[in-house]
Amino acid sequence: MHSEYIILGAGISGLSTSYFLEKLGVSSIVLDVDNPLSGSGSTMKSAGIISHFFPFNEEINLVSTSLQFYEEIINNSSSKISYNNSGLLAFYEHSDHEPLSRFLDAMKSSNVDYSLIDSQELQDRYPVFSISPNETAILSNSSGYFDIEQLFPLILKQLSHKQIKFLYNVQIINIEHQELFKFHTNQGTFTSKNVIIAGGAWSGQIANMFNCKLNFDTYSTQAAILSTSNSSVSFSSLPILYKTKSGVYGRPISSSSFLFGDGSKQYYNDPRDFKSHADKKFLDNIFQQANDSFPNQNLIHTQKNWSGLYTSSQDSRPVLGKLDENIFFLGCYNGLGIMLAPACSKLLVDYIVNNEIHNLFFSFDIQRFNKNNI
Ligand SMILES: Cc1cc2nc3c(=O)[nH]c(=O)nc-3n(C[C@H](O)[C@H](O)[C@H](O)COP(=O)(O)OP(=O)(O)OC[C@H]3O[C@@H](n4cnc5c(N)ncnc54)[C@H](O)[C@@H]3O)c2cc1C
Repeated sequence: MHSEYIILGAGISGLSTSYFLEKLGVSSIVLDVDNPLSGSGSTMKSAGIISHFFPFNEEINLVSTSLQFYEEIINNSSSKISYNNSGLLAFYEHSDHEPLSRFLDAMKSSNVDYSLIDSQELQDRYPVFSISPNETAILSNSSGYFDIEQLFPLILKQLSHKQIKFLYNVQIINIEHQELFKFHTNQGTFTSKNVIIAGGAWSGQIANMFNCKLNFDTYSTQAAILSTSNSSVSFSSLPILYKTKSGVYGRPISSSSFLFGDGSKQYYNDPRDFKSHADKKFLDNIFQQANDSFPNQNLIHTQKNWSGLYTSSQDSRPVLGKLDENIFFLGCYNGLGIMLAPACSKLLVDYIVNNEIHNLFFSFDIQRFNKNNI
């Protein structure tokens, strides 16, 4: 089977890339070593949060494009999936004034709606939250979340109606390269002129198959859903929570449960050995932080906990572009790929198909790093 592009990885990066290629009439085949709905890939494990809380205008711009992608997918289906425009409440310590001002400047110049709120106003609006005297709270209304367990299967379903071929549980046996790349796999032979690496934390291993190097940092981001035994409270209408000092974030799951996550743990092992459960240290810490944020709610461990991997570049900004002749890469979303990946896919596709280099492209172009040193 032949196509113009072979995309390796069927997470949000690979799928949105195939979507934008198809929109320009370019054929692609997406191959995944696993099942993206149940395997180790991060997309299905995400909290689905979309926020405009960034220190750079370029990323804020990407978030808007990604939201358009999700809206297009949903509008083209009969599905009732909705974006929960809950807003985001970020807690900043007063001593971190400098990074905070960078976030606020970027949001202001991108016309993102936000306001600073003091502890009294916080108490009045959200009596369940607690703020410590050395913290400032920033409320940004233009943030929200999707239920990823509904959205991601819908993206797969919508794309399968198009001329895109997806294959899962594909073992690549070997790759030949002359005029074309020729992939010999357990599911047949696939040829293409171009390859796009969209394998998330596994992209380094994939790059090795082409004798290319990607050296990024890998983190494990862990999450747990906690529920309250206090039946007089409802979490459903609360905003997304983000503690900038600890990196802990959360969002409502239901009236009595809240998801908490933390992506600060560096992962040193081979991503192929990754086991996706949260560790005890994380669970103890999250339990403590959750009860500090929601005093008097008796939050208890419950339902489920899990973890996934993400990668980060030297400057913590996304990376995309040409890795080698006819080999392209996109990734390194610093744990924020639901917000950033579809827009990065669009930038990459415009570049490789139309040779159209958008201004934003330069901020994320892989060429900004020395080769082999992302
Ligand atoms: C707990 C958690 C919460 C998160 N919450 C959020 C959030 O709220 N908002 C947000 O924006 N982001 C969030 N993220 C981050 C987001 O999920 C990721 O940034 C995003 O899913 C990355 O997408 P991807 O397509 O690059 O990688 P992945 O989704 O990891 O997909 C990579 C795919 O490549 C496949 N693969 C691996 N090796 C090969 C190979 N050799 N050949 C072919 N395929 C291969 C894998 O099986 C996988 O399906 C969260 C992540 C986690 C783990």
